[in-house]
Amino acid sequence: MNRPAKKTAARRSPQPDNLIIAGGRVIDPASGFEGAADIYVQAGKIQKIETKKLLTGRKLKSSFGEIIDARGKLVVPGLIDMHVHLREPGREDEETIVSGSEAAVAGGLTSICCMPNTDPPLDGQEKIKFVLERAKQAMCHVYPFGAITKRQEGKELAELGDMFSAGAVAFTDDGRPVMSSEVMRRAMEYSKMFDVPIIDHCEDLGLSQNGVMNESFVSTTLGLPGIPAAAEELMVYRDIRLAEYTGARVHIAHVSTAGSVELIREAKKKNVAVTAEVTPHHFTLTDETIKTFDTNYKMKPPLRCRADVEALKEGLKDGTIDCIATDHAPHSSEEKEVEFDQAPFGILGLETSLGLVVTELIDKGILTWSQAIAKMTVNPAKILKLNAGRIKGGMPADITIITPEASWTVDVSKFKSKSRNSPFGGWKMRGKVLYTIVEGKVVFQAEK
Ligand SMILES: [Zn+2]
Ligand SMILES: [Zn+2]
Repeated sequence: MNRPAKKTAARRSPQPDNLIIAGGRVIDPASGFEGAADIYVQAGKIQKIETKKLLTGRKLKSSFGEIIDARGKLVVPGLIDMHVHLREPGREDEETIVSGSEAAVAGGLTSICCMPNTDPPLDGQEKIKFVLERAKQAMCHVYPFGAITKRQEGKELAELGDMFSAGAVAFTDDGRPVMSSEVMRRAMEYSKMFDVPIIDHCEDLGLSQNGVMNESFVSTTLGLPGIPAAAEELMVYRDIRLAEYTGARVHIAHVSTAGSVELIREAKKKNVAVTAEVTPHHFTLTDETIKTFDTNYKMKPPLRCRADVEALKEGLKDGTIDCIATDHAPHSSEEKEVEFDQAPFGILGLETSLGLVVTELIDKGILTWSQAIAKMTVNPAKILKLNAGRIKGGMPADITIITPEASWTVDVSKFKSKSRNSPFGGWKMRGKVLYTIVEGKVVFQAEK
């Protein structure tokens, strides 16, 4: 069963019901279609995909309805980010469900999944309902994840069934690992009953301790406490074994090391139900950046070595890594502008994700457009069973239109997010979001 899209956002201004997205190069990785097409949208849904009788002429005209001229552009399923921290409830000064959704649509995303490590954490039915209620005001679809354990303390299982009924699409204690193997085993057994994945933040706290960066030559040089690759890999290994044992689905969040990629690759060969994601910062940056002591390079898991980055790219290429997700983690400037070891972990991601995918993966020949878009659309949709991620008749008209060759410079001061903690300010990127369309409504249009 696919989860139906829950609502139409009230904040989206009224727009005509009928729309044609005309003449773009449509890429739909789910069906393998790639070519010119006119997409007809009616009442928020894709009515048909016309590939033969395309609208022509200098000025496109049709009695069907309004037209977006997408000639020379890419038209792809609305992008999905399955790893986003919205700070509501608790830190609305850093991000709210609405502000996060505004940042999302500016980044071409039409669906985001929010992590439960809010204050208080999303560990019960009422809290899931609260998010979904707030999400009615959002610019895009917002799907909450429920906590695995009560208060995310890692001890007692939360009411997974209740949260599932309320609309949670996965369970995770992200931000923290579930250190108890016993608790993780039970969580997997429950999640299996609902056929919902466990999203796994892999970190052995005994090994990561007070580490603030990758444990490497660089950390030794800088005299900063390190987090070894093994802190991640031990947990990846444990939870692959538990997934194999319980038959549950486990999704490894923010894979950062070569060893993790190898473990996941081997598990997939044995048909263990494991999937994985990588963040744009982990496939772009290395721990060399920490030499600047800029706290916008501080995140968990930490930025690793060049060899790890290469392994992540290889994992993306050979399909070991299914998804690209941002781990968008807003923090206030007051919190981030402190000594490196005092600063919180995490950086923004929503508004630079597509640009980094195009610049670092597509332009460099690691992934084709279709492979990259699959990892940002149909793959996360399948894992979470979202009714999204494909361009197909009858589906919600969630569509992103991209100018593939456009270059742009990241201006952090113009971000829609309430926070500013991005290391990518001033970076030149290719691939610009031109329109973001949610249920047939234009929710974002790039400035001319
Ligand atoms: Zn995490
Ligand atoms: Zn996270």
